[in-house]
Amino acid sequence: MKARDKALREYFLDTIQLLPPLADRLKDAEMVEEPTATGNYSYQMDECQGENYILVGDAYTFIDPMFSSGVMLAMNSGFAGSDVVDAKLRGDKAAEAKARERFDHVMRIGPREFSWFIYRVTNPMLRELFMFPSDRWGMKKAILSVLAGDLFGETDVKPGLRRFRMIYYIFSLGHLRAALKGWRRRMSNIRDDSDMPMSRG
Ligand SMILES: Cc1cc2nc3c(=O)[nH]c(=O)nc-3n(C[C@H](O)[C@H](O)[C@H](O)COP(=O)(O)OP(=O)(O)OC[C@H]3O[C@@H](n4cnc5c(N)ncnc54)[C@H](O)[C@@H]3O)c2cc1C
Repeated sequence: MKARDKALREYFLDTIQLLPPLADRLKDAEMVEEPTATGNYSYQMDECQGENYILVGDAYTFIDPMFSSGVMLAMNSGFAGSDVVDAKLRGDKAAEAKARERFDHVMRIGPREFSWFIYRVTNPMLRELFMFPSDRWGMKKAILSVLAGDLFGETDVKPGLRRFRMIYYIFSLGHLRAALKGWRRRMSNIRDDSDMPMSRG
């Protein structure tokens, strides 16, 4: 992608031609807007539910699916969301309120934990820490649980993750220059797309 030597539109159309079955399928398609390019694309809606709707999977949030989090989070939100729908259809207000509370929790915690790692994975600080893994204070167990997608199960990952983050921040203070560089790069990559249709925040 970095070696692209032509205009984006041309590059997009030429790339489609590289795959004949795709080109054939799109032969009568009409481009409704100019292509845009982006890296590390993510978004999150403000709310994941309302009176008569819930947003599951990518409809609520999308984070760069490093560690295959995309499918896992989508499937998981489907499970939690089905409890809301079931309670709603049965007209059980108490069960619905409980299911909605859990749904809200499930929808927010997963992307939050994953994105903390995803936004920092190319940061030299995190790489350094990964090069010296320690089983102290339940940190290794907590990180492995996150990477394995065990965020909503029985393993209590919170204390281990909190300790790991604390060590990360202390370590970053000791390497302030590199940490600031990574932070600036992350900040410059964040763009507010709230004026785009179907996208807020
Ligand atoms: C290029 C790419 C690579 C990815 N790689 C990975 C990866 O390696 N690992 C990983 O875990 N995740 C990956 N993801 C993310 C992952 O695919 C998504 O997070 C996941 O599929 C989201 O599931 P979903 O059910 O929310 O949405 P989707 O899988 O998008 O399903 C939505 C479905 O709804 C249908 N639909 C849309 N509108 C309507 C309508 N009006 N009526 C009826 N049906 C409709 C669509 O056709 C689609 O089938 C990748 C995504 C992309 C784009």
